[in-house]
Amino acid sequence: MQLSPLRPEAALESFIVEAGDPFVHEILRGQTVRIVDLEGNQAVDTLFYNAHNYGDRYSAQDTIREQRNIYLTTGTRLMSTEGNVLLTITADTCGRHDTLGGACAQESNMVRYAIEKRYMHACRQSFMKGLQQWDRGMEKRDITSNINFFMNVPVTPEGGLTFEDGVSEAGKYVELRAEMDVLMVVSNCPQLNNPCNAYNPTPVQILIWDTNVL
Ligand SMILES: [Zn+2]
Repeated sequence: MQLSPLRPEAALESFIVEAGDPFVHEILRGQTVRIVDLEGNQAVDTLFYNAHNYGDRYSAQDTIREQRNIYLTTGTRLMSTEGNVLLTITADTCGRHDTLGGACAQESNMVRYAIEKRYMHACRQSFMKGLQQWDRGMEKRDITSNINFFMNVPVTPEGGLTFEDGVSEAGKYVELRAEMDVLMVVSNCPQLNNPCNAYNPTPVQILIWDTNVL
């Protein structure tokens, strides 16, 4: 649990992202981005890329190996596939975030829940919609490992992976400082079959502060 000294009034930009919507934005080196879980227990599926080379992107494996921990929180350095530090988590009032569970897809909805769930909106569609709107030639193969901010995916002592009721609540936030120019691609998860968001997807707020503004 690490509070931030940054004041919302001093933010450069502020956005509300509705549940089921994508959000794509560049975060420049030195800028800070905050994601606020407005109503609690929302999963915010997020991808990060080197803004100057989209082939160099967030790597769950490298991040886990570098910090020797499977959960993300204050102090976590988000590593890229090329070994660069994309961002550092500088504040976190939720306590931990998942990077093992992956993003929901039509296929995973069928496997996890039921065949007829195939036609429900999933994070992969939101990522694709966001990348199409961004219009820089990114496509399905650019969607690789992601972070699930505010999502509770505990690993059992036996090594099992479970999706549990969330540990976040209304007003909790996580904040990251960009260590290089990055592209942030968010899917504010539309999932209706998972207890991590209490079967109720809700909006989040995204705030961006310029370099060293308090
Ligand atoms: Zn999802």
